Amino acid sequence: MLEHVVKLAVIYNCKIAISGYEIIDGDRSSNVIRTSRLLVPKDTQTPYRFEAFSERTVSEFQSIISLKRDEKEEEVDRLWFCNRWGPLQNEKENNALFDALRSRLLKYQKARANKQYLPFNIQLQSKFVTNSEGKQIPAIECGSLYAALETSWFLSFQHEMQTSMCKFFKEYGDRKNCGKYFTTREGKEFCGEPCRKAYWQKGNK
Ligand SMILES: [Zn+2]
Repeated sequence: MLEHVVKLAVIYNCKIAISGYEIIDGDRSSNVIRTSRLLVPKDTQTPYRFEAFSERTVSEFQSIISLKRDEKEEEVDRLWFCNRWGPLQNEKENNALFDALRSRLLKYQKARANKQYLPFNIQLQSKFVTNSEGKQIPAIECGSLYAALETSWFLSFQHEMQTSMCKFFKEYGDRKNCGKYFTTREGKEFCGEPCRKAYWQKGNK
């Protein structure tokens, strides 16, 4: 085997309702205790905007991957993410899909922390695209945001470092000298000490 080190692009065009989304009750089937919660645009006539899947999409999903105290909090995270990047697969998708991806990636994250690499089952069929440096690199074109996130996760998982979003930036927005994104091993929440302090000061007000 000959191993090459190459850059690999993951491509997906996110489709996002300009009206934003809300989460409503779906059908309650008799054998499911929890009602399914469906993601729908606030306005059924909404126009859409498109945004290219990027490092930022992954960082933002990563920032909400950990499970919260209750379902309400998890729904807030889900809505926050989908308002920025659209549904994982389709409109009217339920919370089970979102939870499935989240818990799946969390499982891989935990395994990796223990230096284990669980098998992934993703399509690596690629074509070539020209990147920002004008070079031809292989690219995987994904059919959904779900697939784009999963594929990116798989690729970045082979490496130790991960990009995270600063918690201050996530909750309060831009701040002078905030790095917004940073690479880290597990667990770091802020880009640096100033943002950590500023965050707790805001919280104490
Ligand atoms: Zn920061």
